[in-house]
Amino acid sequence: MQRSQLRRWFAVTGLAVIMLGLTGLSVSGVAHTRSSAAAVTKVCMLAAAYDRIHDAVITEEHSVQLYRVEPGSVVRESHAAASASLQAALRDVERLGTAADRGLASEIGALHGQYLQAVTDVFDAVDEGAAGERAAAAIDTGRAQSLFERINRIVQTATVERTEQAARALRELERVETLAFIATVAGFAVGLVLMTVLLVLSVGYQRRLVRQAASSEHQASHDPLTGLPNRVLFARRAGTALQDAQDRGGSVSVLMLDLDRFKEVNDTLGHHYGDELLRQVAARTSAAVRSGDLVARLSGDEFAILLPQAAAQDAARLAARLQNDLHRSFLLDDVTVDIEASIGVAAAPEHATTVEAALRCADIAMYNAKDTKAGVAVYDAAMQVEDGSRLLLLGDLRRALDSADQLTLHYQPKIRLNDGQVSGAEALVRWQHPTRGSIPPAEFIPVAETTGLICRLTLYVLRAALGQVRTWLDDGLTVPVAVNLSPRCLLDAGLVGHVVALLHEFDVPASLLRLEVTESAVMANPAMATATLTELHELGVRLSIDDYGTGYSSMAYLKRLPVDELKVDRTFVLHMDADHEDAALVRGAIELGHNLGMTVVAEGVEGSAHVAALQALGCDIAQGYHYARPMPAADLSRWMHDQRPVTVPA
Ligand code: C2E
Ligand code: CA
Ligand code: CA
Repeated sequence: MQRSQLRRWFAVTGLAVIMLGLTGLSVSGVAHTRSSAAAVTKVCMLAAAYDRIHDAVITEEHSVQLYRVEPGSVVRESHAAASASLQAALRDVERLGTAADRGLASEIGALHGQYLQAVTDVFDAVDEGAAGERAAAAIDTGRAQSLFERINRIVQTATVERTEQAARALRELERVETLAFIATVAGFAVGLVLMTVLLVLSVGYQRRLVRQAASSEHQASHDPLTGLPNRVLFARRAGTALQDAQDRGGSVSVLMLDLDRFKEVNDTLGHHYGDELLRQVAARTSAAVRSGDLVARLSGDEFAILLPQAAAQDAARLAARLQNDLHRSFLLDDVTVDIEASIGVAAAPEHATTVEAALRCADIAMYNAKDTKAGVAVYDAAMQVEDGSRLLLLGDLRRALDSADQLTLHYQPKIRLNDGQVSGAEALVRWQHPTRGSIPPAEFIPVAETTGLICRLTLYVLRAALGQVRTWLDDGLTVPVAVNLSPRCLLDAGLVGHVVALLHEFDVPASLLRLEVTESAVMANPAMATATLTELHELGVRLSIDDYGTGYSSMAYLKRLPVDELKVDRTFVLHMDADHEDAALVRGAIELGHNLGMTVVAEGVEGSAHVAALQALGCDIAQGYHYARPMPAADLSRWMHDQRPVTVPA
């Protein structure tokens, strides 16, 4: 039995016991009053009977006196009547009285008998006239009066006693009545209070039951972390909305939202921060939709939004706005976190006719948005094929990492602009797929980045690159190599350990390894990224900011990072001769890098015009097709040998 049930059971049983007790008290009060009243009546009647005896004996005595003065039948009759009344009263005493009364009655009866005899003798003497006057007086004063006085004394005493007894019984009756009245009123009041208590208890219990039912219904249909509806409720509402759209015409849109770097936040900062981030994302998302729309958390960092009566274009507009909202930094306690969200849009009945199909389409569109980094994508039937191939690609990449002959590294040299010497090389992965041929990294790296596979790939590249540095060292060449580090790997707690182990394994000085990270990778979790980069820097590993200009940059963080190289993204360098804005960015980047004490590298240097422009701006290093395309290590060795001597940077 639950505690609340037990309490209710006690309350009801307690109330029943108390009510029974009160009823018993009331009944016994009434019975007591009744018997007291009966006793009072009896005592009063007894007192009255004695009183009648007293009156009768007085009347008898009075008749005797009267008869002696004026004898006559009237007086005799009056005496006889008084005598009869006394007899009747005596019978009443016997009937109503106790054993003592009955004793008294027989004593009075006997005395009265003698008295009557004396009285008869008096009457007879009186009837003799003057002759009997003396005798009459003698009998009267001698026998009759003494008998009368004895009877009168007995009767008077009994009358007083009985009257007092009656008064006492009456007082007792009054007391019992008062007590019974108080008990009844108190019982009524207690009963009323208890009834109220029981009523309050049972109403409370009922309310609790209703609340419990409502809360378990809420729990079954809501996500406990964010308080948002869950998949069950979402499917129910979406089903209704779809039916409505079918009945009345129009469309329903479904948005699938997935956070791009949620796992990193969770893994590196801990679940507390992950949970807080999800709550804030839920709040921002809910604030972005209209009142009739429904935001649900389906699982992990996956949210769905139902827009009843919205076409795909309207939904895409909302998705773009929402994506923008989620781009603003999140403040989680003391840490600022930047994340990106990918949103897929699907509409019914255009893309699907059931809730499950609409969710699947939105999901495919969301993965497309993630892969293409578009942010928002509206479902297209062609994506169905792509989605399938995405999974195939991941499977194939997993096998490629195991096989060891599909993935190789190409190296692209970096040239110092002041003296044209090679300052190092960037390692770039190449995938020779057994059936599909060569797959460019731009196609599989973003896919790998959506899963933990990217970290395995990074370790693979690190191992191959450091192995190559060792080979070059053994051949007498000192070539510093740069490896690209994906955001997810930067937040991998095991990264530093792996780097140390590999440097040790190949016996390569840390200064010959450079790691390239993007600003957005740092901004995903500045605290964690800064800590990792600082550890790497302290090992002696060199660090570069890659693709500078494409992400959001924060001077504040750049200044604090132990980075000694800034790589301006190739898109700006490629168009710097034609586009003023790109040229301004390149110039600004060079100035910023120099101000922060960094070496500035220009990527995507395709022609001599670029070289001249960059030299004029004071750029330090160039990398691009103008000098060399990425190539296998052996080709680079030959190229370096043919071109110019390799020098180790200061
Ligand atoms: P990234 O790090 O910016 O690498 C430079 C990219 O620019 C390379 O493309 C390179 O081939 C290309 N490039 C070099 N010079 C020129 C030029 O003059 N003109 C033009 N148009 N392009 C030039 P790639 O090898 O296709 O790599 C593309 C991206 O894939 C890389 O951009 C990098 O973000 C990623 N990636 C490549 N290899 C790896 C790797 O081993 N690990 C990770 N995490 N990412 C990698
Ligand atoms: Ca790079
Ligand atoms: Ca780059």
